[in-house]
Amino acid sequence: VLALAASVGCASATGFTPFPQSHDVSLGRSAAKEVERKLPVEKDPFATAGIARIGKEILAANSIHDYEFVFRVIRDDRTVNAFALPGGKIYVYTGLIARAGDEAEVAGVLAHEIAHVTERHSSERLTDGVGVSVLESILLGRLGSVVHPAAEAVNKVGFLAYSRHQEAEADEVGLGYLTHTRYDPNGIVRFFRKIAALGKSGSNAVTSFLSDHPDPEDRIKDAEARIEELPPSRRTGETYEERWLAYRERVTPAHPKAAQ
Ligand SMILES: [Zn+2]
Repeated sequence: VLALAASVGCASATGFTPFPQSHDVSLGRSAAKEVERKLPVEKDPFATAGIARIGKEILAANSIHDYEFVFRVIRDDRTVNAFALPGGKIYVYTGLIARAGDEAEVAGVLAHEIAHVTERHSSERLTDGVGVSVLESILLGRLGSVVHPAAEAVNKVGFLAYSRHQEAEADEVGLGYLTHTRYDPNGIVRFFRKIAALGKSGSNAVTSFLSDHPDPEDRIKDAEARIEELPPSRRTGETYEERWLAYRERVTPAHPKAAQ
């Protein structure tokens, strides 16, 4: 299982999967069970709604109607991170909420995660790792109750790393999504700067973020260059800082010590 997991997570993604797009949702449902068994998903509807509203604005502004997008919060103040499952389930840690200074920063993170879903990155790496026929068998229940190593890989898809190429693609596509919203695209740059600063200070809160993603300094340079190329009217936007701070105060009242 370990060897398989390693091969699934490796950077040899072809960028193509013959696995049907419609099955991403089933794959994500299966993986969500494992995620929600292992991680403390927040039940407070207020906490969930504040994140979902930002995510839905990005989806609406880009007319993304495929998949079943669902936004959830994970109650873990010590982790500054977010991740997506195939088919549209997106999870944001309260550690990230405690660190984000406005909605534009969070929108930058969510746009990146939405791009992982629409670019079907999980299906790409699972296809590379276990093959389409095995994936289909798992979803159709053909493997029965046998604990097949490939089924383990599917269940753990939420915990596997994307390739560097996929991360760069999610940054690029995600920024494209942001430019169609009212949000300031520079929010993601501000967020990356915070991650970089936390990393330099040796904070454990960003250990998983830094191991899952490329160097934030490189991502800052790439995002700034892309923003520079935008028409002037799109280089700025709203931050909704006040609304965000009211939300954050209620969801992570221990801020800013929460994520130390
Ligand atoms: Zn990513």
